[in-house]
Amino acid sequence: MNKITIAIDGLSSTGKSTVAKQIANHLGYVYVDSGAMYRAITFYAMQNGLISDDDFNKEALIYQLPKINISFKFNENLGFAEVYLNEENIEKQIRTLEVSSFVSKVAAVSEVREQLVKQQQKMGENKGVVMDGRDIGTVVFPKAELKIFMTASAETRAQRRYEELIERGDDVDYNAVLKNVQERDYIDSNRKDSPLIKADDAIEINNSNLSLQEQFDKILQLVKMTIENCE
Ligand code: C5P
Repeated sequence: MNKITIAIDGLSSTGKSTVAKQIANHLGYVYVDSGAMYRAITFYAMQNGLISDDDFNKEALIYQLPKINISFKFNENLGFAEVYLNEENIEKQIRTLEVSSFVSKVAAVSEVREQLVKQQQKMGENKGVVMDGRDIGTVVFPKAELKIFMTASAETRAQRRYEELIERGDDVDYNAVLKNVQERDYIDSNRKDSPLIKADDAIEINNSNLSLQEQFDKILQLVKMTIENCE
């Protein structure tokens, strides 16, 4: 069976990574969470005093980029690859609201994108990959055989994200989560370099009223059709 490249883009907290992991596990493909890579660089910037509420030392971050090594290691128990920053597992630390509140600023820096896009393209060079993000179908893999663009209302997405954070034990406020989701959508969609836009050949899925199972079934059907057409 031919292996294909599956690009899943969309707004923040649309559940892209949940379905991307399910599809990758089902097909025996590699799953890459490109957002985790931008979050890892943001975490580095926070740890090294390069970013705070009122300051972002972009030049220092660009200068230090060659020192930042991001990798993924598969965790058998979790069934997906966790992200490592300079060999330290930071999977949990990158999911906080604080990292979410700075990540779009870091992701708007062209030098950061250039480094990460190269690494992402390398990870997908042999196909058999499901990658989720904002620019996967437009910039990273413009020739991907299947491109999905996921949307849902901001309120639905914030509610899902809020429940996830509460479940982890984080003390967060729903309105702060909603504000973060809306701010990230705005910055991601309006930045100069690789803005979040639906690729012309992407299939849009609004999952506001879909269960996880319905969403998985729908995307799996698209995957099967695409693989058949490639044979
Ligand atoms: O997917 P996730 O919400 O974890 O992504 C975090 C942030 O990383 C996004 O809001 C966006 O600013 C940035 N990102 C990006 N390009 C990608 C993936 C994520 O700019 N391919």
